[in-house]
Amino acid sequence: MGRFRLSEPAGDLIAWLGLILMASAFLILTMTREPSLPRTSFRYHKKTEPFALVILDPGHGGQDSGAMAGNVLEKDLTFDIAERVDRLLGSQGIPTLLTRTGDSYVSLTDRAKLINRADHAIVVSIHFNDGPRPEASGIETYFAAQRTTGVPGIASWLPFLQKVGNVQPNVESQSLAQFIQEQLVAHTQAINRGTKAEQFYVLANVRHPAVLVEGGFLTNKNEIGKLADANYREQLAVAISDGILKYRDTIKASSDNIDGAGP
Ligand SMILES: [Zn+2]
Repeated sequence: MGRFRLSEPAGDLIAWLGLILMASAFLILTMTREPSLPRTSFRYHKKTEPFALVILDPGHGGQDSGAMAGNVLEKDLTFDIAERVDRLLGSQGIPTLLTRTGDSYVSLTDRAKLINRADHAIVVSIHFNDGPRPEASGIETYFAAQRTTGVPGIASWLPFLQKVGNVQPNVESQSLAQFIQEQLVAHTQAINRGTKAEQFYVLANVRHPAVLVEGGFLTNKNEIGKLADANYREQLAVAISDGILKYRDTIKASSDNIDGAGP
């Protein structure tokens, strides 16, 4: 066979050194590993944790002011609410990401790209309404009934697979919209305009559960007045944060039940 052979003592030494190395590697691994986490717990954790990141998308920004009522600009309100939700979720230990960090313009395609680069996330886009009639008021939350980016990568050029992606129902988004809408109405006593399906760009072109909150009408005097009050804006933010937490806890509870009922 022509194999190189070590003399007996040298071979023993290497065997011992190998054994010591293995043992110390094992010790280091054991000591640096998070305590009491069995091998399967990460999978379990991933399965029951509905998301690892909340992406907050304050609508408009920069040269795009959105809806306007005198000197009240939609872009300022959306950013104010996003920062409040960011703080509230942070205090619960939930990681967050904002699609814009100040009064800057970020296009819808760039927002979607940023969102799609993230893993295991949910998205809450924040807007304020304007209507043709000054009486229109209340809060509504949108979700996309279908995702247009259902099949990523190589399959996307196959028309029949693309179609499968297109008709994929978006139940997580609908559920998230319902939890948030419920909390918004409970916290603000605003008129409940319900949850609605709409293929808005940031909802339909992202691969995560995504909703869009319309937190009130800037064409309604009463709602402009309420939105000028920081306490009211804080209630809007608390409601969004509570809706997210309830969505998380409900999914966790139902997947725990499924785990419990399993073999
Ligand atoms: Zn808007």
